[in-house]
Amino acid sequence: SEFVKEEFSRGALRTKTVEDILTPLKDCFMLASSAVLDFSTMSEIMQCGYTRVPIYEEERSNIVEILYVKDLALVDPDDCTPMTTITKFYNHPLHFVFNDTKLDAMLEEFKKGNSHMAIVQKVNNEGEGDPFYEVLGLVTLEDVIEEIIKSE
Ligand code: ATP
Ligand code: ATP
Repeated sequence: SEFVKEEFSRGALRTKTVEDILTPLKDCFMLASSAVLDFSTMSEIMQCGYTRVPIYEEERSNIVEILYVKDLALVDPDDCTPMTTITKFYNHPLHFVFNDTKLDAMLEEFKKGNSHMAIVQKVNNEGEGDPFYEVLGLVTLEDVIEEIIKSE
């Protein structure tokens, strides 16, 4: 019945976490903050097909900024503009969430905020050393909506 269906979809949003639906870090299209916006890098960004590109420093697990493809509208590839010039100029907020965030809470976050992407991290306390934040991947509004549609 409709009631059962509705309860099910609410249930899925309440019980599933962002970790269940994220795009793993290894599959994320990202660029280094040391990159230069020359013709080759700009072509790569255009061809990746994504609207938002996380920017990392030194290693992929260290995401420091986010580039929107539309930020490139006024960039001339001949100028070989450093990536950081653009990301510092637009300075889009970067959102982090913990891996155990439930999808209903994530949806509320996305509705409140002005960004539709969040970086998922967890506290890693396996191993000998001190606990540290480990980046698992990214989640977007689209991923949450897909879950809602799937469960209907
Ligand atoms: P928009 O639809 O707002 O133009 P988009 O198509 O770039 O954005 P989304 O629709 O938000 O991206 O997400 C589609 C899928 O792509 C989701 O599974 C999301 O996790 C994934 N995704 C988004 N950005 C990236 C990226 N930079 N690298 C890898 N996967 C990404
Ligand atoms: P993104 O968040 O992927 O960067 P966006 O901010 O351009 O995309 P959406 O998030 O898809 O746009 O939509 C935000 C709101 O702006 C929606 O209410 C949408 O209807 C409206 N909107 C989007 N594009 C236009 C436009 N060209 N003119 C007027 N309203 C628009």
